[in-house]
Amino acid sequence: MNRNNVESLVTGLLARDTLSLARVISWAENRDPRIGEILRRVYPDTGRAYRVGVTGPPGGGKSTLIARLALLLKAHGERVAVVAVDPSSPFSGGALLGDRFRMTELSEDPEIFIRSMATRGSLGGLAAATEEVLDLLDAAGFTWILVETVGVGQIELDIANATDTVAVVLVPESGDAIQAMKAGLMEIGDLFVVNKADRDGAERLCVELDAMLDLRPGRDDWRPRVLKAAAVRGEGTEDLAEAMETHRRHLTETGILEERRRGTLKHRLLAEARQALLRRVEREDGEGLETLLDRVARREITPHDAARELVDLLGRGPSGAPAPR
Ligand code: GDP
Repeated sequence: MNRNNVESLVTGLLARDTLSLARVISWAENRDPRIGEILRRVYPDTGRAYRVGVTGPPGGGKSTLIARLALLLKAHGERVAVVAVDPSSPFSGGALLGDRFRMTELSEDPEIFIRSMATRGSLGGLAAATEEVLDLLDAAGFTWILVETVGVGQIELDIANATDTVAVVLVPESGDAIQAMKAGLMEIGDLFVVNKADRDGAERLCVELDAMLDLRPGRDDWRPRVLKAAAVRGEGTEDLAEAMETHRRHLTETGILEERRRGTLKHRLLAEARQALLRRVEREDGEGLETLLDRVARREITPHDAARELVDLLGRGPSGAPAPR
């Protein structure tokens, strides 16, 4: 690996140079092995940014709301980055957000960094890649990172769960609170934004959500708030920013933020360990495997037990010593 290259990329990243950021983010997204060295270098500088997840059904106005929010935060002197994650889209490289009319204002703002991410290969890799991208942006000194997840599948929920505050954006026509509950959104939201409040049914949805939240066991000693917004008109953005601040203060003052982040890191560490183990198992095609396979074929041992022996074998390495990485 070209040392100077890493050196200059790290320097560029710390200076929030857009080209350096784009390059290292692509490495993270493509699971390029060169990202390992970059992350090793900048990881000690992470953990400072406040991460907000914005999730909810497509078309709810998340992008519109995020654009408004980013500009507001910037006006408050914050350095804002926006990451949109779309597991269903094969496109990437900023095209998604850049092409969206409502983000145009943002994409022309040199002080707000926007990036969209999509699936390259396995979906499982997407969550890991996104967390690395958030680390890179965090190290780069962005103070607020807004993560938009498109859709409401498991990956999106995982990504939202890896943020500090989760805002769920719903609209009157997205059905009712029951739909949101079925999609698992009621469990993860710290803030619920009923957007398109300029349309009928917003008030009713607010009441329904509030009633359901009364029944929901509180997470982190926090009663989730329900807010109304009309993002196209810029209404509700300030209330949302204020509610995010209040939630952040609650998490910080109670020490829950630290606990919650530790939980996220544990989840991440275990996911990485699973991946590493999986890769090793899949690579293992040697004598150990053949011997076990013979025994399975002779019906001396079940595949279930043989799999466990195989994993033990990998753990011991070739000479009984711990296996190399
Ligand atoms: P996303 O898919 O959740 O990111 O939603 P978008 O931000 O792309 O918004 C989807 C559509 O809803 C766009 O045409 C927006 O202009 C529109 N929209 C967003 N916010 C509002 C709002 O508050 N009221 C109304 N009537 N339309 C809105």
